[in-house]
Amino acid sequence: MPPQAIFLDTSGLCVHNGRMTAGKPINVRRPEIMAQVRDKVQQYQSALVDSIRAQGDVLVLDGLEVHLAAAFGFCDGVKRAIEIAYAACRMFEGRRIWLIGEIIHNPAVNADLDAMGLRHLPWNMTDPLYDELTEEDVVIMPAFGVSISMRRLLEQKRVLLVDSTCGNVFRVWQKVRGYAKMGITSVIHGKAKHEESQATASQSCGEDGKGNYIVIFNEADAQLLCDYILGRAERETFMAHFAGCYSEGFDPDVHLAEMGMANQTTMLKSETARIQTMLRAAVTERDGDDTRFHAFDTICGATQDRQNALFELLEKPLDAMFIIGGYNSSNTTHLAHIAAKKLPTFFVKEAECLQSLDSVRCYDLAAKKELVMSLPAEAQLLDRPWRIGVTAGASCPANVIELVIRRLAELRGCPIE
Ligand code: SF4
Repeated sequence: MPPQAIFLDTSGLCVHNGRMTAGKPINVRRPEIMAQVRDKVQQYQSALVDSIRAQGDVLVLDGLEVHLAAAFGFCDGVKRAIEIAYAACRMFEGRRIWLIGEIIHNPAVNADLDAMGLRHLPWNMTDPLYDELTEEDVVIMPAFGVSISMRRLLEQKRVLLVDSTCGNVFRVWQKVRGYAKMGITSVIHGKAKHEESQATASQSCGEDGKGNYIVIFNEADAQLLCDYILGRAERETFMAHFAGCYSEGFDPDVHLAEMGMANQTTMLKSETARIQTMLRAAVTERDGDDTRFHAFDTICGATQDRQNALFELLEKPLDAMFIIGGYNSSNTTHLAHIAAKKLPTFFVKEAECLQSLDSVRCYDLAAKKELVMSLPAEAQLLDRPWRIGVTAGASCPANVIELVIRRLAELRGCPIE
């Protein structure tokens, strides 16, 4: 269970993970409420995807073979967040309901929730919209959680808070708060601007706000950290490189003495393992042992399963990979990185991206924007079914996956009835 002390309810109306944390606990996902939103939640399922799963994850058509990864799409944390959002919309119908940022990083799901009349609060807490909040407002916190300062601001506003933060994210918070209590600086492997990493960073400061953190994104960042620890990098270079990625008052000469590593839950497992090894080696070289380096793998099981399943899928003789999901979804982006190392890879967010075989709108990882690509000419000329691997990030609903598969089949001249 996540620790509660830091989130003491001040309004008496705080809903935490769908339950009130203080006073009279209520569950927004009550059976009678869920019965009313069942259609909304079930729209994300797919009979076609279920039937491909039942046939050993393979669909064979005249011109196309679709090979699904053994694990893909919605994770439990995302499913629960979506249920909580729909349940809150029904339960508090008639009130203004706000969502901080996006409930998850998927454009289709977010558009559906917008159609229910949800309003959006930006992450920037100085935005004038926050001045409009009253006790009558309902605010939903997304699956990746919010920072401590955001939570406190909302509590001061005495709004009704609905918290859909995933339990796996709480687990990371628990760890970094433990580090803070022991005076250990958290080294967070994540994206400094990602909502989850920002929330985790705020938790790294601990209950008294005196803890420290630094967010590192990749092995190059880890190398600079190691170089600094070993006296091989200039302070000015270090501070400039990590500007915006460390806690207020962070002093690398003091705060790198003892470090504890944690991850954004959706990072690439293999990269995290390499970074841990690098940091442990640097601390050992500096201190003579690794007692002042602590590591705890906080990559969530769902992320891990989807990465492992993709590695397995890539062992098959495939012509190309389709990765489906929101372009700002961290775990989906990592799947695309893995696939692109082995095969022509098309990272698409929806079926509409497939305009023709020569015109596929997909996210280019290097350019960091959507570009138009062609399916490989040699694949288009094959006189056998084209073998496509398909997987999707933890925030991608099955109905979106079905539409992409149907569109691919249509473009290959073998539409699915
Ligand atoms: S990807 Fe992992 S941490 Fe994120 S919502 Fe899903 S289960 Fe939770």
